[in-house]
Formats: sequence, C-alpha cells, structure tokens
Amino acid sequence: MTLTEMRQWLDGRGIQLTRSLGQNFLHDGNQLRRIVAAADLQSGDRVLEIGPGLGPLTELLLKNSGSVLAVEKDLRLVEVLRERFAGEPHFELLHADALEWLKDGAPRDWTGWKLVSNLPYSVGSPILVELALTEHAPDRLVATLQREVVQRITAGPGTEHYGLLSLLLQMRYDPAGSFSIPAGCFFPAPDVESACVTLKRRAPEALDAAGRTLFVRLVKLGFSQRRKMMLKQLRTAWSEESLLAGFAVAGIAPTARAEEIGLDRFVTLTRHLAASNPPSRV
Ligand code: SAM
Repeated sequence: MTLTEMRQWLDGRGIQLTRSLGQNFLHDGNQLRRIVAAADLQSGDRVLEIGPGLGPLTELLLKNSGSVLAVEKDLRLVEVLRERFAGEPHFELLHADALEWLKDGAPRDWTGWKLVSNLPYSVGSPILVELALTEHAPDRLVATLQREVVQRITAGPGTEHYGLLSLLLQMRYDPAGSFSIPAGCFFPAPDVESACVTLKRRAPEALDAAGRTLFVRLVKLGFSQRRKMMLKQLRTAWSEESLLAGFAVAGIAPTARAEEIGLDRFVTLTRHLAASNPPSRV
C-alpha cells in the first residue's frame, strides 16, 4: 500500500487522523517486508494484528500466513478494512479496544499464534504484557513501538533501560533482535523514534503458572523503589529468613538493588520462595 493509496482512502472518506489513537501509518514497503520477515511466517500460522489501521501490514500478513485476526478501535478504519479485504476468507476483523478486549477475562489460547503489529504506542507495553502473561501466550511477538520502549524490553541488568517491562516480557520471551524504523516511513511522521522488536517464546518455560504469578509479584515489589535495596521492599511480603536463604541460592547480595539483578536470579529466587515459603502479607 503506497502513501498515495493511503491518502486516497483517507481523503475519499474524509477521515481526519486521530492523534490520541497513535494513527501513524507505515507506508514504506521495505520496512513492512522486514517486519514480516522477522515474524518468520509459515503458511499455517495464525496472526494477531492489533491496530491494522488502513491495512498496509495486513495485506502482507494475509499473503504470508494461514489467517489474520485484526483488532481495530477506530470504526472509520474498520469500515475501510471491511471494504479492502471483503471476500478474504482468512481475515477476521474485530471492532474493539484491543487492551480492554485482552483484559475481558475470556479464556484464549494463543498457542500457534504470532502477534505481528505496528502497535498504538500509548497502549503498546500493556498489550504486550497482557499477552505475555496470559496462560497460553503467543509463540512470537513482533511489535513496532517507540524505540525507547524497545530498549526497555530488550535491556539487561545494570543498564539504564532495564526494569519491570524487561523482566515481565523476558520471563517468557527471548529478545531475538530489533531494528529502527525512521520516522519518515510513517504517515504522518511521529515525533518519537520507532523500532521493531522480535520476541520468541522460551521453551521450556522457566516457571509454571503459579511461579509466574509469584515472579510478577516479586519483580513488581522489587522495582517499586528501584534505587533502594530490594530486600527492604520484599520484607513487606516475605520473611527475612526465607528471603536471605533465597538470595543465597540465587547468588544475590543482600544489599543488591533490583536493577542489578538478572532474569535467571529472579527466577531462582521465585522458585525458592514458591517451594519454601508462600508470601505472608501479599
Ligand atoms: N498497522 C497500521 C500501519 O502500520 O499503518 C496502523 C498502525 S497505527 C501506529 C496504530 C493503529 O492502532 C491505528 O489504526 C489506531 O486506530 C489503532 N488503535 C489505537 N488504539 C487502539 C486500541 N486500543 N485497540 C485497537 N486499535 C487501536
């Protein structure tokens, strides 16, 4: 879909773009093909696309996968997409706020699915976390976001961008590369820098469902005051004795701050706390 075609669809329907919905459409063919390549699509793959917009990515996803489920919040764009992809048997379109839809409590099994999306930036991180923490999470997440958010997702311990978002996603996903997308590839050009990140599901899982719940509590509490000793925050939920024993098993210094502690150590500490001592005051 070229920039000229995008303008034609918008002008033809008198659509004024809505800034609050992050409506920056990707019209650069090379960048769209790079995103699709990062998804490593197979003919049987099911793809979830959140925020299809006018469908520049959707058309490539339909060509390269088994089926596409797209979720778009803006009814004006839903109508464009219905017209553009009418008669496409492998395309399903939902008119919904994707974040509310993912949080609605309905059980969904994303096994065998890949998320491939140029996400609405204002809700990009919560959408990824929601999918990553769901019981049956997608096999792969390929997401275009603000570059700063991609840096936070892929960061390691002791670095500026490392934090809660890094751990919540890396607990189940291995960052498998990212690339920058220049602002001029979008219409209109966004004021922030963008990048596309690929996250591959870890197999086997580091933690079972109960362990993941405990891990989320642990890292949220640990990062609640990221520049202070983590032990102090965690003592509000677990006994100091079991925490110190877990720290020793995980190789964490009692004086360590959350931002210095890597994923493997958090996982080991989670396993220790799960086995030895359920949280007392969480
Ligand atoms: N994928 C298209 C592209 O690459 O050109 C559009 C991407 S644009 C960055 C984000 C899209 O997400 C817009 O179409 C916007 O209307 C839609 N959107 C914004 N908030 C949404 C939400 N909460 N749920 C679903 N779609 C949303």
